[in-house]
Amino acid sequence: MAEKKNFIKSNSRAGGVIISGPCSAETEEQVLQTAQRLVATGKVDLFRAGIWKPRTRPGMFEGIGAAALPWLQQAKKITGLPTTVEIATAKQVEEALKFDVDVLWIGARTTVNPFSVQEVADALKGVDIPVLIKNPINPDIELWQGAVERIEKAGIKNIGLIHRGFSSYGNTEYRNAPMWHLAIEMRSRNLNKIFICDPSHIGGKRNLLQELSQKSIDLGYDGLMIETHITPDIAWSDAAQQITPEALKELLEKIIWRKEICDETEQNELQILRLQIDQLDDELLHILSKRMKIADTIGVYKKQNNITILQAARWNSILDRAFKKNIPLDLSVEFIKKYFEAVHLESIAHQNKVMNS
Ligand code: PEP
Ligand code: MN
Repeated sequence: MAEKKNFIKSNSRAGGVIISGPCSAETEEQVLQTAQRLVATGKVDLFRAGIWKPRTRPGMFEGIGAAALPWLQQAKKITGLPTTVEIATAKQVEEALKFDVDVLWIGARTTVNPFSVQEVADALKGVDIPVLIKNPINPDIELWQGAVERIEKAGIKNIGLIHRGFSSYGNTEYRNAPMWHLAIEMRSRNLNKIFICDPSHIGGKRNLLQELSQKSIDLGYDGLMIETHITPDIAWSDAAQQITPEALKELLEKIIWRKEICDETEQNELQILRLQIDQLDDELLHILSKRMKIADTIGVYKKQNNITILQAARWNSILDRAFKKNIPLDLSVEFIKKYFEAVHLESIAHQNKVMNS
């Protein structure tokens, strides 16, 4: 915990680490004004701006490039806010360092590519700078962990993680599906690292920011990265998701910050409830094991009588029955589906083993 706190000095009056600034640096005026209006909120710890922008299609605005680095340096001088930029190549690392960028971040399209992450890692050997690593665009936490390991092996001690959601086909509500369970798994593998949520790139729309931010704070994230712009509607990139610095202040004021550490009474009360959960979980495991033993017996019967394992009608009737039974139980439909799919798969695996033994 202590290590986390030292990572980015949190001077702000918000309850967690707040990283904010435009998706892209566009003009000197825009960079300086955004930084000044952000520092005026008293709630921001680190000023972000994209200067090399990985865009989906050529011909879109690909960032100002190194020419924007002096603007960031100037913004830091005027506001005192440390700065962070996205880097994806050795040359970009070198240029960012020349202009005293304080924290580097690796973007989602870079984390996905071990060649690129290794190139960045090699360029960082012997450099003492914090690095934030966004999740890869595809839902693969091994790649994310791999990037962490490459950067760690280069000798970087301060590494943080940013959850920005995952690409998924046909996803309409979010620009990038949050898949919170993957992020939580990643966090539990990296408990000593600061864990930041980027609701801007998850949501893709400004009206989703409040709810996504609150959700991540409820889950115990250490802070937020939120894109801000002086005139969001005419931003050169990601216009739909950016908000003004003043709107950021309002958003942060509405957040209910949660604490991770509880006092003794709270610990005891939670402990009583947790023991009840442990007890029920134990019972569930025993019941599941009993259920699978019956599946084994069915497997023996099917083998003796030459019947196929999979019988579609039976599967549909199991699900129908579960949905009906669930009406007074109030479990979500998604949960019922996922649970029965998992049980069904395990059952098939058991029967398969019996049939082929
Ligand atoms: C960004 O932060 O502007 C960005 C490009 O994000 P991501 O790598 O998450 O797409
Ligand atoms: Mn962006």
